Amino acid sequence: MQTERIEDNIIYARAKSGTYPFKLDVCLYIADGVLIDAGSANILKETRTLLGNEKIICAALTHVHEDHTGAAAWIKKNIKVPVYLHRNSIAEASVKSDIPLYRRLTWGNREGFEADAMPLFIETEKHRFDVIDAPGHHRDHVVFHEKNSGWLFTGDLFVSRRQAVAFKDENINDAITSITKILRLDFETLFCGHSGIHHDGRKKLKAKLDFFTEFREQVCMFRKKGFPDEEINKKLFPGKNLWEFVSRGEWSSINMIRTV
Ligand SMILES: [Zn+2]
Repeated sequence: MQTERIEDNIIYARAKSGTYPFKLDVCLYIADGVLIDAGSANILKETRTLLGNEKIICAALTHVHEDHTGAAAWIKKNIKVPVYLHRNSIAEASVKSDIPLYRRLTWGNREGFEADAMPLFIETEKHRFDVIDAPGHHRDHVVFHEKNSGWLFTGDLFVSRRQAVAFKDENINDAITSITKILRLDFETLFCGHSGIHHDGRKKLKAKLDFFTEFREQVCMFRKKGFPDEEINKKLFPGKNLWEFVSRGEWSSINMIRTV
């Protein structure tokens, strides 16, 4: 795990989770004592070392996926601070995750934990983080906005400008609504759960919105012409994606089309 102290009292930690080819980056942040997202179970050892050296007042999770909640049970048991999660995901979080093999190899199963209901905002000595609902990637996804510093902690709302695969329960229509709403907020620096810190975060999030909007227009245009989703998939995503293969279609481009 690489760690860096940046901005005014933010610790940025980044680690590789899993082993090749099931290997992806995961990022977590400690902003004035607030742990934002808790990494995956496969990096728990490194996360424990990091958290053991820092003062943590609470953890705030953008969503319940296993790559954002891996250390949550350990935090509840050992640091004994609130671990905030969207109230509609608390029941799911209370039991151990049950995920397919490729996700276990990449992220690992997270233990069940007793989450605390997400408040409207989290206040620390120096900052106030407003909690903003941002469904799309997950129906109970939130982002954290610190307007005085122009920070936005986005979990999996951004990840990259483009997207080639999605889960069945992702919703691109919701993502478009969420990003449109969030772009009205005052922020410049975006802290992503996988791709790190983007100082031109507003520009990048706008680019993602443009990608989703254009993608939706194309899908609608092909549907009007009578193409079935499988044909549209071949037209919009002609190449094969490694993750689509290893996930046996759980994480696939056809899901992107079906969510429109
Ligand atoms: Zn996720």
